[in-house]
Amino acid sequence: MDGALHPRALESLLAFWREAGVDACYEDEPVDRTVRLAPPVRPVTPSSSPARPSAPAPSPDVSAAVLEARARAAAAPDLEALEAAIAGFDGCTLKFEGAKRACFSRGAPDATVAIIGEGPGAEEDAQGRPFVGRAGQLLDRMLQAAGLQDRVFITNTVFWRPPGNRTPSTTEQAVCAPFLDRALQILQPKVLLLVGGASAKSMLKRDEGILSLRGRWFEWRSHDENLILPALPTLHPAFLLRQPAAKKKAWADLLTLTERLDRPDRPA
Ligand code: URA
Repeated sequence: MDGALHPRALESLLAFWREAGVDACYEDEPVDRTVRLAPPVRPVTPSSSPARPSAPAPSPDVSAAVLEARARAAAAPDLEALEAAIAGFDGCTLKFEGAKRACFSRGAPDATVAIIGEGPGAEEDAQGRPFVGRAGQLLDRMLQAAGLQDRVFITNTVFWRPPGNRTPSTTEQAVCAPFLDRALQILQPKVLLLVGGASAKSMLKRDEGILSLRGRWFEWRSHDENLILPALPTLHPAFLLRQPAAKKKAWADLLTLTERLDRPDRPA
């Protein structure tokens, strides 16, 4: 078959990729999906000056998207309005990269703990709610064991599923951040639980890995610095599914969190 894959082999390769979460394909040529956000390109006028060596590729107009997100978020008086504002927002490129719908939150609107994950996966994309797949079920069992199941509000750093379940980029997180910021302003939780490295790094603006951040208290500050909350990074339940031996550490983190909730005045 001159190098072509046998149809059966191709079928099983596709099934393998689907299982692994690969459900979006790249085009033959790169497509710049950020062009929509970029300012209009000015025609290049011929000039006698020598061409500049390799000018940097045009960057998307992320700041315009952030400003729009901030304005939309600020106009939302409650979580319901905020969810609608997110659904109507076109400034995050993830929305146009295969996500079925926006996935904002689940949990108690009067929660004392806000749990921030990384981004929706396949099951979350299908249901429109965060942490409803296997990792979410493990998270729920851990919250139940810690007596926290009715005290949590759960959301993510981005609200659309990254293709192939990749980690959200810092740009995607920055564009979604005003909505998350507003959600926390509305909710006014007592503490944040930051689940996984991509969440902890983005919320705390730190570079260390999750294994060094986890189990320690940090401060999260809202954009206007009017709200400052204690934030505890912990391991992602998807990681715990792959490395069950690490559950002990995640459980220790949950105990650190419940202790702080029960004795808020005790120094961390
Ligand atoms: N992983 C996350 O970080 N968030 C979800 O909502 C699901 C899986």
